[in-house]
Amino acid sequence: EAPRQSWLNRLRNGLRKTGSTLTSVFTGTQIDETLYDELEAALLMADTGTQATQYLLDDLRRRVKAAKATAPAEVKGLLADAIAELLQPLQKPLVIGRPDGGPTVLMVAGVNGAGKTTTIGKLTWHLSHSGASVLLAAADTFRAAAREQLGVWADRNTVDIISQDGGDPAAVSFDAVNAGRARGRDVVIVDTAGRLPTQLHLMEELKKIKRVVQKADASAPHEVLLVIDGNTGQNALAQVKAFDAALTLTGLVVTKLDGTAKGGVLAAIAMWAREQRRAVPVYFIGVGEQLEDLQTFDAREFAAALLS
Ligand code: GDP
Repeated sequence: EAPRQSWLNRLRNGLRKTGSTLTSVFTGTQIDETLYDELEAALLMADTGTQATQYLLDDLRRRVKAAKATAPAEVKGLLADAIAELLQPLQKPLVIGRPDGGPTVLMVAGVNGAGKTTTIGKLTWHLSHSGASVLLAAADTFRAAAREQLGVWADRNTVDIISQDGGDPAAVSFDAVNAGRARGRDVVIVDTAGRLPTQLHLMEELKKIKRVVQKADASAPHEVLLVIDGNTGQNALAQVKAFDAALTLTGLVVTKLDGTAKGGVLAAIAMWAREQRRAVPVYFIGVGEQLEDLQTFDAREFAAALLS
């Protein structure tokens, strides 16, 4: 209970930057067009994006009418409901385990600096603590520093790592999936090198890693995860779209929500997924740099933190 409380506080404190302009909208005495205008500006400033902002405002007007609300304070509660409902489809647990007992293979991608390696370290800790055995694959064969960094996380979690100097990232991933099966591991996490979606040859390399992993195990990868930095707002949404076009993502991790003015991007992502008629869950959120600072995403908690 205590640790959960402390990370929720961190999320609340982090999102305060996002929420301060949002909550200030509700300090007036009337529900009028000025309130809706200010709310629109505040949502856009929080990087909610034009579509999600419009959707939320329309939904909010309906809720205000249905509730016959007369005070701005009530509108705040109704907005929290609207945001929570929009975010709800993003809330889904990451399921580990296969009927045939083979390893669940997680392929993890992201741009440099998004928090990918840290997230893998934290995820390994989280999975180990829930009783799953993990094997890491350092598919960034190019940067020695990246392999070393992943190695530090492997040591810290006392799990095996498959790593290779130079060579082909797809080959390392292939070996790791086979090693995971041979060693009876529950989870294999493939760490890929950070890249920008505009680096087309590197995006092709990612597709190849996915194909080759599938050769090692026909049902793999079981999850293709993108790690995005919650601080980067609309840019993070652009990354989601581009990586999804290349890899067909099955889930997201949003990092650095312990200090962002752009927490609205989750609503923008939810809107995008809704338009795609797909579930693209946010399996975890990052709220700090420590091992335990990876938490499952809860739509209602998030909406409440945003407006606290
Ligand atoms: P990568 O290049 O995507 O592998 O990024 P790293 O994992 O190396 O992370 C980049 C920086 O962001 C490091 O300083 C991390 O400690 C930091 N970081 C990662 N996740 C979080 C988070 O959730 N909150 C905060 N405050 N920092 C984070």
